[in-house]
Amino acid sequence: MTIWKSECPGKVKQFLWRLAHNSLPHRWRIERRGMEIDTLCPMCGRLNEDGAHLFLKCKFAKSLWREMQLNEERERLLACDGPKEMIYNILKLPEEKKLKCVMMLWAWWDVRNKEIAGEPSWNPSYVARRVNVLVEDWLRHGLNAQLGSQDKTECSVHLGQEVLQINVDGSMRENPSRGGWGFIIKDAKGQPVGAVAGHMQHISDPLQAEATTCLQGLYAAESWGMMRVQVQTDSLNLVQALNTRDLDLAANGVLFKEIRCFASLNFNQVVFSFCPRACNKVADALASFGAESDLIATVMWPDQAPEFVHGLVASDCAELFG
Ligand SMILES: [Zn+2]
Repeated sequence: MTIWKSECPGKVKQFLWRLAHNSLPHRWRIERRGMEIDTLCPMCGRLNEDGAHLFLKCKFAKSLWREMQLNEERERLLACDGPKEMIYNILKLPEEKKLKCVMMLWAWWDVRNKEIAGEPSWNPSYVARRVNVLVEDWLRHGLNAQLGSQDKTECSVHLGQEVLQINVDGSMRENPSRGGWGFIIKDAKGQPVGAVAGHMQHISDPLQAEATTCLQGLYAAESWGMMRVQVQTDSLNLVQALNTRDLDLAANGVLFKEIRCFASLNFNQVVFSFCPRACNKVADALASFGAESDLIATVMWPDQAPEFVHGLVASDCAELFG
C-alpha cells in the first residue's frame, strides 16, 4: 500500500490507513468487540453501520458521491473485496479525482462523528462544497495549506519540541447520561497554553467520562502540532487502563484502545500519569463548567478564559510546591 507516500494531508493519510485496516471505530465493529450499543447507521438510522454501508451504500453517502460527480467511481468501488482493495483502487485514480475521493471520505467520517456528538449540521451539497475547497486549497498550497498561516507553523514547531502537560478531568452529573469535560494544556514552565471545556451526552460511567476527556485532550494537542505530551488525570483507573491492557475487555475497552492508537499514530511521546485531585483543580472546574454549558466544545485560550481559570492555575502550582 502506498498510503503514506500519497500526496494528501497527514490527517487524511492516517484516516485512510485506519479505513484500509478496518480500525475505524464504527458501530458495528464496536459491537463485535462485545459492547452493547445501537449498531444502526447514525446517518440514515436504517441499516447496520459497517464500513461499506457508511462510505458507499448509505443513501446520504450516495447523495454526496453524486454531488461530487463521482458516482461512477462509487459504483466501481462497490465491487471491491474489502476496504484495502477499495483504498488501493482510489489511490490509482488520476491525481485530482483521487484527492476528491479521499478528502470526501475523510470529510464524511468527520460529518458522521459530528452527527453522533449531536451536531447535525450538514447536507450533501454543503459537504461537497467544503471538500472541493479543501481539494483546491491542497492543490494550490500543498503542505502550507495544511499548516495554515506562518504564525501557526512557528507555533507548531515551538510546541512540537517541548513536553507539554495536559491535565484532563471529566465529570458526570446527577443525570447519568450527561456530563462535562475539561482540560488545560501547559508548557514546560507551567504556563497555560490553552483550555477547553465541553459537555457530553450518553455517558454511562465516570471512567467513560475520564477517557472521553483524555481523547478530546489528545485531539486538541494533535491539531496544535504538539508532538510530546504528558497527560495527567486524577483517575487512577484511567491511568491503569491506558498503561496496561488489563481493562481492554471491560466496558470501555474500545475507548482505551482508541486513545492508545491515536497517541501512537500522532505523537512522538505520550505519557499517561496520575496527579492528585488537589493539583487537578483547573481541569475539574473546566469539566463542571462544560457540564453546565450547552456547547459541545468551548475553546478558551488564555486570553478568553474565565477568571476562575487564572486563579486556579496559580493554586494548582502552589499545591505542588507548597
Ligand atoms: Zn446509513
